[in-house]
Amino acid sequence: MVLHIDDVSVQYGAAVRAVQGCTLEVGEGQLVSVIGQNGAGKSTLLKAVMGLIPLAGGSIRVDDVQVGSRAFSPVRSQLSYVPERGGVFANLSVGENLRLGGVACKDKAAVAARIERELERFPVLRKYWGRGASLLSGGEQQQLAIARALILDPRLLLLDEPTLGLAPIIIDLIFDVIAGLRAEGTTILLVEQNAMRALEVSDRAYVLQAPGKVLGAGTAAELQDIPAVVDYLGFAPSEAGASQ
Ligand code: ATP
Repeated sequence: MVLHIDDVSVQYGAAVRAVQGCTLEVGEGQLVSVIGQNGAGKSTLLKAVMGLIPLAGGSIRVDDVQVGSRAFSPVRSQLSYVPERGGVFANLSVGENLRLGGVACKDKAAVAARIERELERFPVLRKYWGRGASLLSGGEQQQLAIARALILDPRLLLLDEPTLGLAPIIIDLIFDVIAGLRAEGTTILLVEQNAMRALEVSDRAYVLQAPGKVLGAGTAAELQDIPAVVDYLGFAPSEAGASQ
């Protein structure tokens, strides 16, 4: 198991319990989604994995190493996290952003090869190589953020709502990229409000309901058999089961 979230609770201050007793696993090469409505606790869960918020309970392990504290953990440096917003350095060019993605990697030839790989994946980034990231559109910035995260060849890629607020054609492009990464064997934890699209590309999904409780988990077909999940999502998960 690459990621093991065990009975995790997270709260903001004394009053706001954002995640409650959440247990979630991501296996090698799997694409696992966390879906649920606004405020369900999805982003908080990713932040907890990255050590950006302390745990109120439970544990988080990556490759059996504890990462669920704010203390530095070398294993966390093998995780790439693309936040909901602000995944690029706006003051730097596209090329500088991509090079920065490989700054922790000593093998500069490998970094150059990975940058080339990402320029193939996202041709718009080659086109705008020298342009300031702040001058890119929202969809282009999101492509840059994902590309930068991939330069690390991460053990686990954490994507927080990568299609939020983007035009339909860019949403299609991003989901195609995610499906391609899955086919390449990248291990991914994807947070998405667009439950149908997420289910289409995922091996499994966890349905989160505020305050951060797992309502159900499984493949689209398995989720279909959980009435509370079908009720909460408002559509039949099996309709999205194309990739199962
Ligand atoms: P969305 O889909 O809208 O991004 P989400 O499922 O990612 O929602 P979170 O952002 O994790 O949900 O928020 C979970 C709960 O924690 C919400 O009730 C939210 O208001 C609260 N919350 C989030 N960030 C903070 C914060 N910094 N301080 C206090 N409460 C917070």
